[in-house]
Amino acid sequence: MQLTRAVKEFARSIGVDHIGIARAEPFPREEAQLRAQAAAGRYPRFTDTDIPRRTDPRKLLPDARSIISIAVSYLTDDSPRTAVHDGVPRAWVSRYAWGDVDYHHVLREKLDRIVEFLAANVSFPVRALPYVDTGPPVERSVAERAGVGWFGKNNCIYVPGHGSWVFLGEIVTNVELVPDTPQGKSCGTCTRCIDACPTGAITGPFRIDPNRCLSYITQMPGVIPVEFRRPMGRMLFGCDICQIVCPWNWEAAPANRPEFRPRAALGSRPALIPLLTMTNSQFKRWFGGTAMAWRGKKILQRNACICLGNIKNPLAVPPLIDRLEHDGKEEVRGAAAWALGEIGGDDAVAALKRRLPVEPSDYVRSEIETAIAHAAQA
Ligand code: SF4
Repeated sequence: MQLTRAVKEFARSIGVDHIGIARAEPFPREEAQLRAQAAAGRYPRFTDTDIPRRTDPRKLLPDARSIISIAVSYLTDDSPRTAVHDGVPRAWVSRYAWGDVDYHHVLREKLDRIVEFLAANVSFPVRALPYVDTGPPVERSVAERAGVGWFGKNNCIYVPGHGSWVFLGEIVTNVELVPDTPQGKSCGTCTRCIDACPTGAITGPFRIDPNRCLSYITQMPGVIPVEFRRPMGRMLFGCDICQIVCPWNWEAAPANRPEFRPRAALGSRPALIPLLTMTNSQFKRWFGGTAMAWRGKKILQRNACICLGNIKNPLAVPPLIDRLEHDGKEEVRGAAAWALGEIGGDDAVAALKRRLPVEPSDYVRSEIETAIAHAAQA
């Protein structure tokens, strides 16, 4: 009991907002869910595909006794609507990606310090596996079991006082700590997040179709399917809608950690047009080190084309023509063609017609033909 209390006090002293302990026992409910999702082609994206490793902590560490779960708030009081109406076409970026520093590094540093604290306070060799976000453990279920938070119908974990604006991390360890009890809260009759999702990705309470979730769509490789382009609106990276509409989040207190504040060069709503023609060194300067950087420059440029097609600002036409004519990636040229078709006008249509006979990609030519037809109807 004393060690558990000491670990929690230490964690809070290094900026952990909530910490709880779960028994390192299997997660049979999650194992069944993941198997069903895999069979239906809806396995969560960007996660480990080894289901036994994900749902049995002892497959990771044979003598695991406890899982330490932590939550760190990334909420800042920067308004998501800042400067959207200044006449400059601006992007929507999910709050979790605003920070000046990739949150994986921030949490990993805290987890490593907790492991060091454990090692300094027990008399046997500590074995400990820290994970943030992309590790095998079913992270949110660990947080639920550890009493750190409870599941909303949007499958986010809600932490008292901080809402769902939290990063989670965990340590699987051979150290026996006193487990906490789950919070046992629920959404009641609310269905706001289900109703608000622009693509119907929340197919029911606690059921997410990752193939429809805009958070995934904006990070997926290749061509963004047509049906998701207009629902994307101005979303450059991530979504947040299911969290913004959630009443539990309205009272969340901003932690205002400097590392999670928007990067000065970008703000929370980056101007879109400069992204179309950014150089590699500008990409590194603007996005390097942020949680947005890992998908690379081309994914952001593809998304920026779609955002600009939705915003329909004529200022975007010349840089979109530049992408159509000069980008080496067909998914960017295709997105530029789509955007030019959405904006329309003589210059956009003339550029599309000019490109059609010289475009080498069958896919991009089909985008151009559709864009010309769409612009003609507008
Ligand atoms: Fe639950 Fe409503 Fe929040 Fe969705 S919006 S997570 S249903 S409380």
